[in-house]
Amino acid sequence: MFVDDLHLFCKGDVKSIFIIMETFKRFSSTSGLTINSEKSDFYCNRMSQHVVQRVLQGIGFKKGELPFKYLGVKISHKRLTKINCNVLVDRMIARIRGWKSRKISYSGRLILVKSVLSTIHNHWSQIFVLPVSIMDRIQALCKTFLWEGSDNYSRSPLVAWNVLCMDNEHGVLGLTDSKIWNYATIGKLVWWVTSKQDHLWIKWVDHIYLKGTPWFQYEPTTYSSWAWRKVCQIKTMFQNGYTNGLWNGDIKEYTISSGYNWLLQNTGSKVPWFKIVWNRYNVPKWNFTMWLVQQKRLLTLDRLRKWGMDVPIECFLCGQAPEDHQHLFQQCRFTQQCLQLLANWLGLSSGLLLKPECHLRLRYLSAYARKVCSDAVVGLYYRIWRCRNVCRLEGYVPTPTLLVLQIQEDCNRQIQGCFKGYMKHTDSDWNRLRNINI
Ligand SMILES: [Zn+2]
Repeated sequence: MFVDDLHLFCKGDVKSIFIIMETFKRFSSTSGLTINSEKSDFYCNRMSQHVVQRVLQGIGFKKGELPFKYLGVKISHKRLTKINCNVLVDRMIARIRGWKSRKISYSGRLILVKSVLSTIHNHWSQIFVLPVSIMDRIQALCKTFLWEGSDNYSRSPLVAWNVLCMDNEHGVLGLTDSKIWNYATIGKLVWWVTSKQDHLWIKWVDHIYLKGTPWFQYEPTTYSSWAWRKVCQIKTMFQNGYTNGLWNGDIKEYTISSGYNWLLQNTGSKVPWFKIVWNRYNVPKWNFTMWLVQQKRLLTLDRLRKWGMDVPIECFLCGQAPEDHQHLFQQCRFTQQCLQLLANWLGLSSGLLLKPECHLRLRYLSAYARKVCSDAVVGLYYRIWRCRNVCRLEGYVPTPTLLVLQIQEDCNRQIQGCFKGYMKHTDSDWNRLRNINI
């Protein structure tokens, strides 16, 4: 029931339907509230035509067609088909086409995928097991939009999708795997049955399906509905997670996100650079470039040559060695000079700044100073890559001094935006030493 809507279910026979109508009449005579026949529909399945006609004449409602829409989802007596769910795909495509004309950076697209595209199917996902083809299409649209900014697939992604769906600490983008998310949402129903929660649905399941059989030994029959068989299938996925009535050995309740992480098995080792790359004080587009550097997935000349492209070999910035990630971001003379200037500015050693875990070695600095340092390091990687692209297209290489001045300006702007008005005295002194004006 929602606001003033009422759904009543019963056996598809005349007797059951007329008992319901009789109850309504009694309710009306007591309360004075009556049914509006104009706004009421009668839905049926597997009832003979003459019974349907008899019921319709008796109750005075019109016959509705399944599936119908209720609270944004389609209600049907059958499993949801691809055609029923195409509306989700259409909504995603409409969103993507609306953004297509704007030039959105990778980091902007990442935010849109996480906060908009991945959430369009969430409401449906929490109620139904969606068709695999629809989940694949949703995932493909998210992937294509992230790497290409449109809904048309034209080239291989820089990083495969299946390695992007773990959390940030494991070095990936923290995107959502739609299929696993769908299983985790249905895992909530499995948990309800496991923990015997006080729901009408649980009582119904107990009475109609389980009939006293222990839940994890129960097998659905071939006559069970498709949706129920799917719930039982998902139950087996979670079997090892529910022990002695506890979820994952904890007294806490099952949550969709805990089920999702459990299914995803975020068990790999954490990467040392995640705090630098996913620092919220950095500019998001710098973060994304830094992340691609750590994944060694930027389109450097060595990668382009591997794909058979006819491109130069030598680094554009120094012209002294073949360009690859190792050279461009660590060994290149130009990068080394920039790094030295940046290290002088921050009062650190250049060797330390190059280490991905440098934030761990900077614990003697204040939290604020560490944030500025990580901002500068990420900014350096972003500027080096940008400078390399300008040089490739226009043949112009700025001096390291000019590049570092740009990084300092970028950092100043970013720090002003994040910290203005919240500065400790010690941090203000640190700023003065480094000519940071807030
Ligand atoms: Zn070089």
